[in-house]
Amino acid sequence: MKTVLDKFKLYGKVALVTGASRGLGKAIAIGLAEAGADMVLVDILETDTTQQEIEKLGRKAITIKADLSSINCVDPIVKTAVDEFGKIDILVNNAGIIRRAPLTEFTEKDWDDVININQKTLFFLTQAVARVMIERGEGGKVINIASMLSFQGGILVPSYTASKSAVMGLTRLMANELAVQNINVNAIAPGYMATDNTAPLRADEKRNKTILERIPARRWGQPEDLKGVVVFLASEASSYMHGYTVAVDGGWLAR
Ligand code: NAD
Repeated sequence: MKTVLDKFKLYGKVALVTGASRGLGKAIAIGLAEAGADMVLVDILETDTTQQEIEKLGRKAITIKADLSSINCVDPIVKTAVDEFGKIDILVNNAGIIRRAPLTEFTEKDWDDVININQKTLFFLTQAVARVMIERGEGGKVINIASMLSFQGGILVPSYTASKSAVMGLTRLMANELAVQNINVNAIAPGYMATDNTAPLRADEKRNKTILERIPARRWGQPEDLKGVVVFLASEASSYMHGYTVAVDGGWLAR
């Protein structure tokens, strides 16, 4: 009989993670590999260190270099993954960018660049992977990386707030359509995490102090803090969860 801990194991599964070169995506990819999955690492940057760490765990990892700012990359990514492994069981839409400027100065480029990666490619990559999952008929898992700004308005980041609010809505929409195919779609909303993405905030002494004072856990999140929840959402242990966005935020939203 399978124990509950067995249900968290991902041996024999293939997981594709976007933005796997560094930050949250790197920790997510390593966490999934620690749980047993073989990995497809997608990024515009080199993913060598992620790949090496996964291979050290005894798992396979292939790298696909792709620019997710256009959906032209979608079909080649899915084809390469399926040619290599024959299937995709788990998709983590993690790659994302942010642009900061006051509302009155915000440019169309900063709008389009962010929406294209964080929202448009997230949708069309999921569409392409869902087709493969449905054709195979064995279900699957989609995990989108949302944000505190899926729930809150934020400041100085209009396209980021728009895109991450959309990620929470799309997570629900995709779950509603795909649940019947035994595909679970859920999201993780990280709080304030220490990555390159938030380096400007941490470098600003005043902002850093204000943020830390508001986080009940009184610390920035570390990328490793996401490993547990991503493995849960990627595994059989979460098979009746559909369309939910889980915050991992040191208590930020609880205040
Ligand atoms: P990061 O900038 O450290 O890493 C993002 C990764 O995405 C990088 O490896 C980068 O090369 C890749 N990427 C960016 N543009 C790409 C493109 N055009 N094509 C392919 N790959 C591309 O950021 P992070 O902090 O690790 O963020 C990861 C995700 O988590 C993002 O969606 C971000 O919005 C979200 N998030 C981060 C925080 C945080 O506090 N750091 C909080 C909430 C949500």
